[in-house]
This record gives sequence, structure tokens and C-alpha cells, in this order.
Amino acid sequence: MFLSEEERTETIRACRHCPMCNVADRVAQLVCRESYAPRGRGAILFALDQGLLDWDETVAEIMYTTQNDGLIREWCVGNYDHEELVLDARAKIFKKGLAPVEAVRFIEDLHAGRGRGLSPSEVLSKEGVATESKANMLLFCGCGSRESEGDTIADTGRIFNHVGIKFQVLPKEPCCGWPLYQLGDLEGTREFSVTIADRIRASGASTVVVLDADCYRMLLTRTGRFGGDLKGIKVIPVVSLLAEWIESGQLKVTRKISDPLTYHDPCALARYCEESDSPRKILSAILEVELKEMESNRKLANCCGAGGMLPVTRPDLADKVALLRLEEARATGASTLATGCPRCHGTLTRALSSESEAGLHITNLVRLVAIAAGLVE
Ligand code: SF4
Repeated sequence: MFLSEEERTETIRACRHCPMCNVADRVAQLVCRESYAPRGRGAILFALDQGLLDWDETVAEIMYTTQNDGLIREWCVGNYDHEELVLDARAKIFKKGLAPVEAVRFIEDLHAGRGRGLSPSEVLSKEGVATESKANMLLFCGCGSRESEGDTIADTGRIFNHVGIKFQVLPKEPCCGWPLYQLGDLEGTREFSVTIADRIRASGASTVVVLDADCYRMLLTRTGRFGGDLKGIKVIPVVSLLAEWIESGQLKVTRKISDPLTYHDPCALARYCEESDSPRKILSAILEVELKEMESNRKLANCCGAGGMLPVTRPDLADKVALLRLEEARATGASTLATGCPRCHGTLTRALSSESEAGLHITNLVRLVAIAAGLVE
């Protein structure tokens, strides 16, 4: 959708001969087959355009087996948008009814509202956190938080209450449409984009604070392009807001954290939206010791394994990508790994639980802020 026909053709012609970014594609390295690397995908798409190959389940399996995390673009001297090339291929595959069964099932569940997860308003009221309908600030939790991050939702609410900022959450919060966009259901993405924008507008909020990095990227850069009208409404990731509050003194640090700690930059936040300073401002304020940076960090950080909705189609590979990221974290000597996104948190935690020796504690940055502010133990 976002590559013109000319850009698409040009990208395919560039990628089909080029091995330059293969080194940054962890799934390609794990699968060890050229067809799963950017150059292989370029060659396949070229052959499809020339009528030398047919769209079939094998092509579909290859196009859905990538973390599509945008890192390869950082290696590309031509700045080709290979990620959008893959998404364009997935949209064609989905329309032809050839998408992998796991992707189709996931899409159907989202449309049917199945697996909606926790209710943010119930989580907050159970934890004694006050919300106010029609408040100017709206907390958008996202599917990643609602699936398993009740603590992060509650901690965020506690911090809002502590600072004295009124906020609301959407009743029966809908999905922003990000997973549909990644899995090739563009009609569904349009429908969800319009719904979420209408719901946010009807809430009366002027600022949306987003917990999940992918939801943030969606609302900031894609919802409008899919027909959702968020004009005039400010969208901000929770880490930026917390950094502002700490910097301005609105949120006081009463207890510094002494654990040796490293930080995982979510791709959507650090790479696509170029927000990697706020987490570091927070950490420099709440840590007693210096942050231990991983070898790949900020814009060039490796993915946690959740990129491109890989856990839906290839959870085995998503786990392997996550384990590589955990290795990077351990190499810093840190005992705690903090993330700035519930989806990364969940993916890394799942991978960690598959290992016999954990040796690493994974947490959300919001929890660390709540501890540093004396709101939780
Ligand atoms: S995205 Fe750039 S570096 Fe990667 S294969 Fe295509 S042209 Fe080469």
C-alpha cells in the first residue's frame, strides 16, 4: 500500500542481486536458506512478476517467515524499504487466500473479538487506581498489554494517580489494527483504523498515551493513512511522558535501583519512531549505577523476535530470535533486562522460560519507574 508501483519494481530490482543486508536478518541466518533472505525474497518477487513462478503456499510460507523489523533498511545504502515490499507481498497473498493457516486464524479471531485479553478498566479498578471518563488524557494499552501485562497497566495507572493527572481508558478497548496490517489484511486494517480513531475522538481526549511500541507506531504513522482521523490529537509513548515528568520534577525518584541493568530498545520505538533518548533519561535518573548497553542498541538494536508478527506464524523461530537477544543482554553482565514495550517483554519472557537456567530478570521500564517512585516494592 505504501510503495508506489514504481518504488516496488525498483526495490525488487535492487534486492534480487544484493546480499548487503543479509547479515542483519536474523531469521535468514537461522533458517540458513537464501530464499528466506532479503535477496532471495527479491528474486522470488521478480520471478513472480515475470511469470516464472506462481503465487502458492511455498511463496506464502517464505513471505510470512521473517521478523520484518526494519533493521535491514539501516544496512541498505540505497535506503530501499524492503519491509513494505514484504507487507505488499503478504497483502497479495492474503487476498489470494494463500496466507498460512495460523495467520488466517489469528486474523479471524481478531475480527471476532476473540482473545481480547484483560479489561484495562477492570485491572485498574481492582488495583484501586482511579480513572475518570472524559479526562483529557487517554491511556491506550494495546493487545500486548491486555494479553498478559496487567502489572504494567496497573503501574502506569498508579503513576498517573500519584502525579495527579486524570486519565481514562477505552471501555472494551479495541485493537489498533497493527497485527492485521502486518499479516496482510489491509481491508481489516482500514476498518480497525477507522474504529479506533472514532473511539478515541468520541472519548473527548486530546492526548493518547500508548503503552505498546507497535500500537504507538500504528497510531502515529499508519492509522491516518488507513482512513482513521486522529488530526489534532497528540499521540505519545508512555516512556516519553514518564521521562518528561521525571525531568520536570513532577515525578520524584525516592528510591534508586541498584541492580546492574540493560535495556532492550523496541524496534517500533527506537528504529521507526526514533525515540531512544527518553528510556535512557529515565534510566539515568532511577539507576544507581550506569546503564549497561547491549552491543546492538538504539536504532540498530536487534529485534526481540516479535517483529512482523513472527510469533503467530513461526513461534519456534521467534523464540530463537529472542534467545539471541537474551544472549546479547547477558553479555553485558546485567542481571535485569528492561524493555519499553509489553510485546517485547512477553516475547523475551516466553523465550527465557524455555531455558533451564534463567540468570536474568526481565521487566517493563514502567515497573522500574513505579518502584523508583516508591509506588510498588
Ligand atoms: S534492502 Fe537494500 S541492502 Fe537489503 S537486499 Fe534490498 S537493496 Fe540490498
